[in-house]
Amino acid sequence: MKVLNYIHGEFIEPESDHWMDNLSPSTGDVIGSIPLSDERDVGNAVSAAVAALPQWSGLEPLERAGWLEKIADCLESKFEEIAYLESLDTGKPISLSRSVDAKRSVSNFRFFSELIRNLDEEVFEMEDATNIVKLKPVGVGALITPWNLPLYLLSWKVAPAIGMGNTVVCKPSEMTPLTADLLMKVVDEVGLPPGVVNLVHGDGVAGSSLTGHSDVDLVSFTGGTETGSKVALSASPKFKKLSLELGGKNASIVFSDCDMEKTVEGVTRAAFLNQGQVCLCGSRILVEDSIYDEFVELFVDSVESMVIGDPMNDSTQLGALISKEHLKKVEGYISLAIEEGGEILTGGAPCIPKELSEGNWLAPTVVAGLDPDSRCSTEEIFGPVVTIHRFEGEARAVEIANNTRYGLAGSVWTSDLEKGERVAGMIHTGMVWVNTWLHRDLRVPFGGVKDSGIGREGGRWSLGFFSEPLNVCLKHE
Ligand code: NDP
Repeated sequence: MKVLNYIHGEFIEPESDHWMDNLSPSTGDVIGSIPLSDERDVGNAVSAAVAALPQWSGLEPLERAGWLEKIADCLESKFEEIAYLESLDTGKPISLSRSVDAKRSVSNFRFFSELIRNLDEEVFEMEDATNIVKLKPVGVGALITPWNLPLYLLSWKVAPAIGMGNTVVCKPSEMTPLTADLLMKVVDEVGLPPGVVNLVHGDGVAGSSLTGHSDVDLVSFTGGTETGSKVALSASPKFKKLSLELGGKNASIVFSDCDMEKTVEGVTRAAFLNQGQVCLCGSRILVEDSIYDEFVELFVDSVESMVIGDPMNDSTQLGALISKEHLKKVEGYISLAIEEGGEILTGGAPCIPKELSEGNWLAPTVVAGLDPDSRCSTEEIFGPVVTIHRFEGEARAVEIANNTRYGLAGSVWTSDLEKGERVAGMIHTGMVWVNTWLHRDLRVPFGGVKDSGIGREGGRWSLGFFSEPLNVCLKHE
């Protein structure tokens, strides 16, 4: 499957005619080729977005909401295709691609369509004047997305960005181009005006030319913390509006009064969904001393019962890791865990389904006995490896949870909701779930603190980020 750039409503080859292979994570086979775009392609895409801006930003919000709805309908008609391509490209189980990726990609467009349709201007009355707050488009947006939730995250940015009247250039991860390509086909099929949505494929060269381009007014980036800091540097000379959704090292705090069965199930899901390759994954499990042994036994049983294998099988719960390089990085952390004095309770080695021996496979791995300050316990591994720790008392749980450079999310497991809310309030992150995980209402803010990023997206926070407020003050007679 060869994908092309999408610029000014046309699918075109890169100026350089340089390409790279797209590899299947589960088999290692070449499944397609991707343009290696450079600054010329980025320049063409940005010019198309600049040219489309006056007409698109001049539409009424209701008209733009109508376009989002059309895109949602068209995406929905391709639901199975989205799920298939996402599993092919990422190695994730098809059941997950259906229930999370495909479903959310459609609902992102529907949700923002509805939100924009119902958006009222804020009005503040003074004794002698009326203030109106108008939300104006920012201009041209650069939307950069990672490989773990490709269309889910791209649609999360494209929908509010164009809904608020901006035009955009997208740059998906070079490892997962297929559903971004499908979105461009959808945009083309519904007849969106040329230049409103453009896309360049490629590696960091394309990404950095895009974020540094002088006609780009806004950058929305989801990816790793180190890349995020490069993006911030390249956006800063022109004071571009910037949102960074970066890494995480999230704690799942298990109190002795939790519902054991539901907690084991929830903590297992939080640890290993998408092979642990979700920024929100609960990769540090903190368990209250009095139930530690019982919890660990049940948790390890639960992890060992997960079905690993061909992503296209309906019963598969764990698929392959994204790439050989990433697998090596994750395995490096397992070696480090042993050096740091950890004990591998389960996993720790490649697990190779016979028919898929060239893929990037790793058994879900649980490490105990590490110091909560150790590198494995505080650095983002972004794979199916979790560390498990004992604690005594709320204060110590919070101290361990906060002891990392990241501050994205966390979860608390207790039958005492007051305690859950109290502890959640002390965790220094952008999101905390109590007795659940990744339970998302699209109206609420999403984002992190510390090295997990800056800014929030989601609901009206997305509309705020993708717009500039203009205060018009009308003096009364
Ligand atoms: P990367 O940071 O490597 O890449 C993210 C995107 O940025 C890719 O499209 C990448 O292109 C591009 N890119 C690379 N270099 C530059 C540059 N200098 N300027 C602009 N863009 C560039 O992240 P991964 O794709 O490896 O994704 C994994 C990371 O994403 C994890 O750390 C994870 O925690 C984080 N993440 C955060 C989320 C959140 O909401 N907080 C959600 C999901 C993931 P290329 O593919 O060529 O490298």
